Amino acid sequence: MREHVLMGPAGTATVEGLDGLVEELRGIAGTEHVVTQDEALRTYGSDGLLHLNVTPGAVVLPATAEEVQAVVRACHRAGVPFVARGAGSGLSGGALPVEDGVLIALSRMKRILEVDLENQRVVVEPGVTNIAVSNAVGPGHFYPPDPSSQIVCSIGGNVAENSGGAHCFKYGFTTNYVTGLEVVLPDGEMVQLGGKEVDHPGYDLLGAFVGSEGTLGVCTKVTLRVMPAPEDVRTLVAFFEGTDDAGQVVSDIVAAGVVPGAIEMADQLCIQAAEGATGVGYPTDAGAALTVELDGSYAECEARFDEVQQICERNGATGIRVAQDEAERALIWKARKAAFAAMGRVAPNYFVQDGVIPRTRLSEVLGQIADLESEFGLQVANVFHAGDGNLHPLICYDGAEEGEAERAEELSARILQACIDAGGSITGEHGVGVDKKKHMPKMFSEPDLATFQRLRCAFDPDGLSNPGKVMPTPRLCGEVPGPYRQHPLEAAGLAERF
Ligand SMILES: Cc1cc2nc3c(=O)[nH]c(=O)nc-3n(C[C@H](O)[C@H](O)[C@H](O)COP(=O)(O)OP(=O)(O)OC[C@H]3O[C@@H](n4cnc5c(N)ncnc54)[C@H](O)[C@@H]3O)c2cc1C
Repeated sequence: MREHVLMGPAGTATVEGLDGLVEELRGIAGTEHVVTQDEALRTYGSDGLLHLNVTPGAVVLPATAEEVQAVVRACHRAGVPFVARGAGSGLSGGALPVEDGVLIALSRMKRILEVDLENQRVVVEPGVTNIAVSNAVGPGHFYPPDPSSQIVCSIGGNVAENSGGAHCFKYGFTTNYVTGLEVVLPDGEMVQLGGKEVDHPGYDLLGAFVGSEGTLGVCTKVTLRVMPAPEDVRTLVAFFEGTDDAGQVVSDIVAAGVVPGAIEMADQLCIQAAEGATGVGYPTDAGAALTVELDGSYAECEARFDEVQQICERNGATGIRVAQDEAERALIWKARKAAFAAMGRVAPNYFVQDGVIPRTRLSEVLGQIADLESEFGLQVANVFHAGDGNLHPLICYDGAEEGEAERAEELSARILQACIDAGGSITGEHGVGVDKKKHMPKMFSEPDLATFQRLRCAFDPDGLSNPGKVMPTPRLCGEVPGPYRQHPLEAAGLAERF
């Protein structure tokens, strides 16, 4: 077997043949769908993690699965790395381009190919937005995983990140709703993983692909499970003096056997920013706000909504606002989903982190985050999926101030360490990407990482699909026949033999 470079450091892949490749890409997708001008290329330089920026060699916007296949085949033949991009809303640098590589933007592939409500399945192209799936099957059905970015993020991105959202506490994540995928493998072969039915025999390659962050190929068609819309939905926001009381409510609700569709918490800084951005009418002196939504049968919601209110009151709620109609419910969710964007009111820049902790450690870890805030002299706002223990600390800083960005990054690393120490994880739903790959060895031992690597090599022995992401250390994939000869990248300390 040949020796392959699986991953060079992001943005430094050594590539030959991009010029000839661009001509080929124009022939596949049409000249107007291949971007090569520097100013235009720069608009694709980042995803939602804006401080990381790499200008790709070329961007191609294919319109069909066959065009994606032809593009990937051409990249493979030329030995040029490629990165799939959906809407570019990712928060871990997953869609960060490779310099001199090709960015495959799937934004033109937004057809809903089939709505099969009898079997509760929808088949879509990867560029379809998350919200468009619920819109296509409503009002009788809905697609449960609902990232706060759902009006822009794509299903292809959701699959690659195994995205979650406010309603995942009850309904589960993207992986629980993908039953089939059409995938273009990194050598250009097109394969079908799963289908409309659940639980295919054989190895769970569908499960391996969901959450693989673009490293195992490009998905070109997605079959999703949708759910019947609940008969009733009840939503309230309860306010508390602090996050400890609100955290206790979360534990008490779960202990009482109530399974809300969503339980979301925001701290004071978030309440203030969201109020400024949306004018929802929240008290800005509240220390915490807990949004609780029950859905299900009318009888169940009726009985359990009272119980939830009593639990809030027992834990010192300073006010409870119950959504009186769909418009008020939409306003409450708007305030929650606008929280990230509202941080612009607090500071010019912010990092979002995505740590997970056991729900029972919420109060302790939030206390540690408050201590770190003082130690680093930076403000941290917290808004998160409390039911899942999925924290989203928003670390506010001013990038124009010397050293603040670095301090913010160090603070975010300390928060992730606190999550790991509490028995949690470095990511709940935003993926590892470039941002968190350095933290992977804190969670996984060398044999664990080697097992991931074997899987990756099986799909992508040439290391062309989204190189430099997820895995912490650049490694070499494959073996050289004959006596061992050190690869120059290995000698330079840039890659490791695998
Ligand atoms: C304001 C805001 C709120 C957010 N809230 C949430 C939230 O509540 N929950 C949550 O989970 N996330 C959230 N996110 C993060 C982000 O929206 C999700 O990760 C989303 O799934 C990314 O989708 P995208 O289309 O933007 O993908 P991109 O950012 O374009 O890409 C993300 C990854 O997917 C890969 N990829 C994209 N398309 C394909 C494809 N067709 N085949 C293979 N790989 C592909 C890329 O290579 C990259 O690794 C939020 C982001 C923002 C900005």
